[in-house]
Amino acid sequence: MSPRRLEGTDLVLASHNAGKLREIRALVQPFGFTVRSAAEFGLTEPAETEDSFAGNARIKAHHAASATGLPALSDDSGIEVEALGGAPGVYTADWAETADGRDFALAMETVWSRLETMDAPQPRRARFVCTLCVAWPDGHDEIYRGEAPGHLVWPPRGTHGFGYDPMFVPDGETRTFGEMDPAHKHAISHRADAFAQLVAGSLGR
Ligand code: IMP
Repeated sequence: MSPRRLEGTDLVLASHNAGKLREIRALVQPFGFTVRSAAEFGLTEPAETEDSFAGNARIKAHHAASATGLPALSDDSGIEVEALGGAPGVYTADWAETADGRDFALAMETVWSRLETMDAPQPRRARFVCTLCVAWPDGHDEIYRGEAPGHLVWPPRGTHGFGYDPMFVPDGETRTFGEMDPAHKHAISHRADAFAQLVAGSLGR
């Protein structure tokens, strides 16, 4: 069965992450959608209790769609490090959690020090994964998954992007996502890959 297409122009982004909101607005705007934020509707953040990106993306999108009565888009993403058996994976944001909020410098250091402790071979392969879910108020959903393969470097480099961007060099590039012009990252990232599928599947543009 072919994926359901989005009608209308309003889409709620089921995320409180400012970095994702910025990137997703930039990606969806050219298709004529108005992306409304979770904050605009005062949405709460549901617990991400699943052990897969798709499972957690579904929780977030359905929560936002049923609370607003509008189609909702969620993004569950993270980084999988090969030598760590795919960790931090769905726990990517959790590795940054501290009593004073999220600290990604600390999270990147945790990843690198684990690799050092186990003397993991170079290059230290990793991939960013982005799973998008579009959910409708009637309970239907569609899932799209994108990936960006690459390797990790130390020390982190660059001030663009967010999260683990400064330690990740995508395949075919010498700069980290953190060093790249955002437009270039948007063209080659895991989120761009998932979006290309979303565009073909549910944007119908
Ligand atoms: P969640 O999807 O909200 O559970 O969190 C995903 C986490 O993965 C984010 O908080 C970031 O740390 C990380 N992440 C996802 N996408 C990117 C990206 O494009 N660059 C850097 N870090 C990312």
